[in-house]
Amino acid sequence: MRIGIITSGGDAPGMNAAIRAITRCALDRGAEVVGIHEGWQGVVDGGSKFRAFDWRSTGGILQLGGTILGTARSEAFRTVTGRRQAALNLALAGIDGLVVIGGDGSLTGALLLYQEWAEHLAALAADGKIPPEKAENPAPFRIVGLPGSIDNDQFGTDMSIGADTALNTIVEAVDRLQSTADSHQRTFVVEVMGRRCGYLALMGAVATGADWVLIPEEEMDSRWHHRMVEALRMGREAGRRHDVLIFAEGARHSDGLPIRAEAITEILKTRLGVEARVTVLGHVQRGGSPSAFDRVLASRLGAAAVDHILGPDPTPVMIGQIHNMPKATPLDEVVAKSHEVNTQIDHGNFEQALQMRGRSFLDSLQVLKTLARAQPKAELAERGRIAIMTGGPDAPGMNAILRTALRIARNEGQDVAGVRFGFGGLARGDVLDLGWMDVQNWINLGGSELGAVRYAMSDADIPLMAEQIKKWDIRGIIAVGGLSTYQQAMKLMQARATHKELNIPIILVPATIDNNLPATDFTVGADTALNNIIDALDKIKYTASAAHRTYVVEVMGRESGYLALASSIASGAEMQLLSEDGIDLDMLQRDIQQLRRGFAGGKKLGLVIIAEEASPYYDTDFVRRIME
Ligand code: ADP
Repeated sequence: MRIGIITSGGDAPGMNAAIRAITRCALDRGAEVVGIHEGWQGVVDGGSKFRAFDWRSTGGILQLGGTILGTARSEAFRTVTGRRQAALNLALAGIDGLVVIGGDGSLTGALLLYQEWAEHLAALAADGKIPPEKAENPAPFRIVGLPGSIDNDQFGTDMSIGADTALNTIVEAVDRLQSTADSHQRTFVVEVMGRRCGYLALMGAVATGADWVLIPEEEMDSRWHHRMVEALRMGREAGRRHDVLIFAEGARHSDGLPIRAEAITEILKTRLGVEARVTVLGHVQRGGSPSAFDRVLASRLGAAAVDHILGPDPTPVMIGQIHNMPKATPLDEVVAKSHEVNTQIDHGNFEQALQMRGRSFLDSLQVLKTLARAQPKAELAERGRIAIMTGGPDAPGMNAILRTALRIARNEGQDVAGVRFGFGGLARGDVLDLGWMDVQNWINLGGSELGAVRYAMSDADIPLMAEQIKKWDIRGIIAVGGLSTYQQAMKLMQARATHKELNIPIILVPATIDNNLPATDFTVGADTALNNIIDALDKIKYTASAAHRTYVVEVMGRESGYLALASSIASGAEMQLLSEDGIDLDMLQRDIQQLRRGFAGGKKLGLVIIAEEASPYYDTDFVRRIME
């Protein structure tokens, strides 16, 4: 089987990781691979746009933004004549199937090509352009689509390739603006991409603690700007030193006309008397090295695409990721549903459009609206306190959890107390009252503002905790942390029979860079840790690419190999040594032989990633000496 790969439509970071995974998984399975340059236009042009790929063709591209295959918009491919020419080129090149990485438009084109395939071959045979036997009962043309779009507007996947990187870029940019805004009391208006999809604007606003968001899916009545101005005014009165307002380029007034940045600044100036600065993030959102998440996503989807295209089922599908697993959805359904949301928005049916975006989108919008308030909706009720705390070791994102928990609870009139240093602090009575504005700037701070340290709970601590729970009238605990925090909560639960004060709900929120907790796909903090690791690995790759060197890199994760495995996928490491696999001498021997062959074949750099507790016998230094 010969498989073609194209990237089409708007480019997105992570497309290269998909190209690499498709190429290498296909070659590994004995298929041939042809990289087709410049998207659908390249398929129409043929000739030098088709290039056979071998293993090395996709070496060293994992960390590159954009796409090595290039992408173009193609008017020709929108016509039957153009697609017939494309079919001719594909047939002449002996290509049996295509993996198409792109957005809605690109996948719509792919579906058409599939549907017209037999027709095109018959016409080409009749014209004498291909041998007649090729058109007799032709096998269906195999098509697999992968979602590639920074807008994250595609049906059939929770995330499309590129969206996470774009979101990280937005978060970084807004963080920088916030730090300058704070020193000068400024208002920033930030425009992000998203013509019909507010994903980047909404999640960017949640992730940066922005004060207002405008998205295409939300209905704007004629009074939307009054509400916006009022909210910002209240924020200033409550002591907020700066405001950030994020809007998607596709946000519209009630009459359907686009909301421009100038309109927003004008409103802020006349109604609020503030000079707002506008930042249009533009194409920087498309650029840059893909995030760890995008690299892993693209690699997994690429591998699944090859499985499907080499498998028995000829139905054209898009492979997306749903609930953290690759999932195939028939392409006609993907195309129809994606178009339907767009049509709903164009026709002003916002309610339906929002529903179609799904639960997590709706939830996030609701959460944002609560978090961005200047003060809680409800008066403080006499219902005791909820205690929030973080257990050690700390993980990035803990402060965002605390901020959200406090505001969501307080908004409903529930009093919240902060407990410093987790359950240990509770035993000591290290408790403080926390108010709405106390957590204002916590969103992007690393570590934990309440303190998170390792703590060994002793039986003697339990009555002390019971006492403090009574003293502070604590009616529930939200404990943020890793395995040791879970175990401490468990001990408290077991002591309920002897201490009635402990008969209160305890909610655990998984936060550890190790990603080793049950009942969740991801723990808070793991993604940041992974991005830190691949940043470092990318630097190693750049500095070392001139020499013949092997780097042995130890990563954290305790008994969990998640960071080691995911960072290996995201960096293209040659070897990974995980606790789940263990390390034995045969395995080292085999991996080293392979590395040797790689060097003999022109490889310049070897990367070995070892989890900190991969083996009780063979530690990092042992592996390094063997490599030497
Ligand atoms: P994206 O794939 O990111 O949505 P576009 O909408 O620009 O980007 O589509 C990329 C290319 O896919 C177009 O230039 C065109 O060649 C092809 N395409 C898009 N829509 C169609 C369609 N309805 N019929 C045929 N080809 C299409």
